[in-house]
Amino acid sequence: MKCVRCKKQAEVELKSHNAAFCRDCFLYFFENQVLKAIKSFRMFTKKDKILVAVSGGKDSLTLWNVLLDLGYNADGLFVHLGIEGFSDIAKGKVERFAKERNAKLIVVNLKDEGIPIPEVKKKTRRVVCSLCGQIKRYYFNMVGLKEGYDVLATGHNLDDEVSRLFSNVLHWKMEYLVDQSPVLPSEEGLLKKVKPLCRVTEYETSVYAFFKGLDFVDIECPYSKGATFTMYKKHLNQIEFSSPGTKIDFYQGFLKNLKPILEKREEKIKNRCKICGYPTFSDVCSVCRLKGYT
Ligand code: SF4
Ligand code: ZN
Repeated sequence: MKCVRCKKQAEVELKSHNAAFCRDCFLYFFENQVLKAIKSFRMFTKKDKILVAVSGGKDSLTLWNVLLDLGYNADGLFVHLGIEGFSDIAKGKVERFAKERNAKLIVVNLKDEGIPIPEVKKKTRRVVCSLCGQIKRYYFNMVGLKEGYDVLATGHNLDDEVSRLFSNVLHWKMEYLVDQSPVLPSEEGLLKKVKPLCRVTEYETSVYAFFKGLDFVDIECPYSKGATFTMYKKHLNQIEFSSPGTKIDFYQGFLKNLKPILEKREEKIKNRCKICGYPTFSDVCSVCRLKGYT
């Protein structure tokens, strides 16, 4: 197999793009896909101060690496979840990356905030992942606003977006479908949020991380077992295998055809938390409730 760009021996085959690439051309292709997402969705420019939410995993470190290579002004934010045998390792990887790239890293420790995830898990009967996600989003937003960033970038890739879309459609979760977008504009109390990896798959991200020699956390969070999204990803991969290109068509089709209709009927959240000002459906947001301010 030959590289479609330079005709050297190819190392990666991408059926959904009907293409094969050598190492250098794959990296060029990958960065170009990220640039395409940034530009077509008007995510940010070289003038903006970007805060990248980094977990230490391959997606967020890939995102940070690509943005730095492309010359964007991107700092990192790591939320230490306080999960034994996991959070310290993740923090070590992120700190090492920041040091090697001479990039600025901000760390929030949930123990200092009084809500480490293992404690939250004891307090709730709900699945801890949804609360963990809410807590992380809360701090990404708060820190971003407080430190004067223009935009928050997260490492969600095409597979994350497609499995979420699939789940939201299967269960017709209209309020989540409205919010599913590579760009969420800023509003009062909410920082603009973007997903620059929305055009690249999990496989492509892994290949990029491997070619670039990124050192990321490869152990799973001990609370991640049985996540439904993992099951959807497996089924979607089977469909993609028999019909390459389905994932990107499904996602782009949603953004083009359904999203504009949903946006028209969107009702904005008007309430603000009376303790911290974060947008919420009730009087007090879920993070302030967990902290015991009710
Ligand atoms: Fe948090 Fe769940 Fe992810 Fe673990 S798997 S980091 S608990 S969201
Ligand atoms: Zn090539």
